[in-house]
Amino acid sequence: MERLARPIEAIKPSYDVIIVGSGYGGGVSAARLAKAGFSVCVLERGREFVTGEFPSRFPEMRNAFQVTTKRVRTGSPTAIYDVRIGEDMHVLVGCGLGGGSLVNAGVALRPDARVFRDPVWPGQIAQDGLLEEGFRRAQRWLRPAEHPRARDMSKFKALDTVSEAVGVKPRTPPVAVSFERNVNPAGVTQAACTLCGDCCAGCNVGAKNTVALTYLPFAAAYGADLFERTRVSHIAREPGGEWRVEAELVDAKGGPPVVVKGRTVILAAGTLGSTEILLRSKDRGLAVSDRVGQGFSANGDIIAFGYGSKLPVNAIGVGHPAKVEGQEVGAAVTGQLDIVDADCLENEIRVQEGAMPSALAPMLPVMFLPNGRLLGALQSLVSGVYKGPFAGLQTFFAVSHDDASGSLRLKEDKLELSWPRALEQPVYQRLDAVLSALVTRAGGAYVKNPLAGSVMGHQPATAHPLGGCIMGTDRSSGVVDHKGRVFDGSAATDSTAFLPGLYVIDGSIIPRSLGVNPLLTITALAERCLVHMMQDLGVASELISD
Ligand SMILES: Cc1cc2nc3c(=O)[nH]c(=O)nc-3n(C[C@H](O)[C@H](O)[C@H](O)COP(=O)(O)OP(=O)(O)OC[C@H]3O[C@@H](n4cnc5c(N)ncnc54)[C@H](O)[C@@H]3O)c2cc1C
Ligand code: SF4
Repeated sequence: MERLARPIEAIKPSYDVIIVGSGYGGGVSAARLAKAGFSVCVLERGREFVTGEFPSRFPEMRNAFQVTTKRVRTGSPTAIYDVRIGEDMHVLVGCGLGGGSLVNAGVALRPDARVFRDPVWPGQIAQDGLLEEGFRRAQRWLRPAEHPRARDMSKFKALDTVSEAVGVKPRTPPVAVSFERNVNPAGVTQAACTLCGDCCAGCNVGAKNTVALTYLPFAAAYGADLFERTRVSHIAREPGGEWRVEAELVDAKGGPPVVVKGRTVILAAGTLGSTEILLRSKDRGLAVSDRVGQGFSANGDIIAFGYGSKLPVNAIGVGHPAKVEGQEVGAAVTGQLDIVDADCLENEIRVQEGAMPSALAPMLPVMFLPNGRLLGALQSLVSGVYKGPFAGLQTFFAVSHDDASGSLRLKEDKLELSWPRALEQPVYQRLDAVLSALVTRAGGAYVKNPLAGSVMGHQPATAHPLGGCIMGTDRSSGVVDHKGRVFDGSAATDSTAFLPGLYVIDGSIIPRSLGVNPLLTITALAERCLVHMMQDLGVASELISD
């Protein structure tokens, strides 16, 4: 496939629409607006990975992490995994053209209907019917599917066996993966999934239905200019009403900042990125709501392991081309337990069996065994992790609910997450109880975090950060309205006034935990915001239709 990103020299001084970030929110925005005939520019801090370029060996994986702690930063600023080590909680997000879709497991679920009945959402979300249309569009573009033989995978069977411990039978959740060769809605030919299990390192087959293979090529085909390695620091309003977006080239040796102007700016840099840009812009005088940074949720999400299980699990990816012959792992997630509670939504838990990417295999002895460092070196030579104790390693992704009471702020120009006593959120005890029951049934040991006690400490970690620029009905309850329009924060205006042309459209606008993996909801809300935006801009209805 051809590269989508253009050289930065090709950037124009101004566009109709500037989109910051290229995950689900950015991808949907770029595709819809480019098709409607607007000139569109996408600025993405990460780099472009085409199929075949994702980390598949340990040396590449070692360079695939950027880690930020309170005091230090290591790794390339364009490394695909962006890990923020916080004092109260750690956060993992994707970095690259396509955002989190590049490295996620692709599980695509709709939340329980009770989630949208929470009055924390502006009323229009439940009332105007466009959320349903948003989900329909998201499903058409991301095409969640279940592999017909998902139940044959060892990790599914292992989940089935241990599910007795909680009295719930597993099901096969839909994942945004092509299980047959096809030409997708963007016109891109995608190969069939080889069941290699490497989804969370990036799909080297081209079977995962990422933003980079769907919405972004569609946007580029309609003339959108996509730029990689371009990190936006802040935005400001020019006296004439245009927006000025200031960015720096990442990985480049110095050079002047990139400045681009537009009538419309869409922040789609994810929960951490969009919140950081708005906080920094606010510090420089942009009047946005004082709610910016608040309402952070981890979506009750954790990753945990069962080590030493007596069952064959085979949940370590084999990669593509396969590192070992004759081993089908399955997509990163093939089985899920739904622990439901008709009386109390907050008690619901989804447990998914996951797979570790093959390039991380040599790390497993280091993570789980005493003297693992030595063994790790040896095992990476003999591919030993596919046999012996690691063939029984269970990886679990679990999702539930928290109270979304974390907050993000800028300290010395760096984004910090503050969530005192996050670990005391009741969700973590519920998750521990369920996961340890499952692992015990398999005869293994429950390992919440194999790196606990290191720089990781004992804090919880999430890959589903939400909130920070939450929706509300006015500037006292939210940063944006139900359409993603940013409220004007100046006291001189009405509390429902907007900053004309400024939007946030990504996971940061979600005002509560979802209790399921968020990609489908983020995409549906983005689709919904775009229908509204184009109607408001007077776009002809045939260009708004999907
Ligand atoms: C390992 C992993 C597994 C996951 N598995 C699942 C799953 O199975 N199902 C699911 O639903 N969810 C999953 N998620 C979560 C899901 O991927 C995210 O919720 C989703 O990608 C968020 O979408 P978004 O549009 O809000 O932002 P993102 O997808 O994070 O996109 C934001 C983009 O903005 C860019 N950016 C940030 N700051 C700037 C800046 N200053 N300037 C320019 N660009 C910037 C980022 O590099 C990124 O590309 C997983 C996440 C991870 C990390
Ligand atoms: S299992 Fe392998 S081929 Fe299938 S989507 Fe995941 S990474 Fe791609």
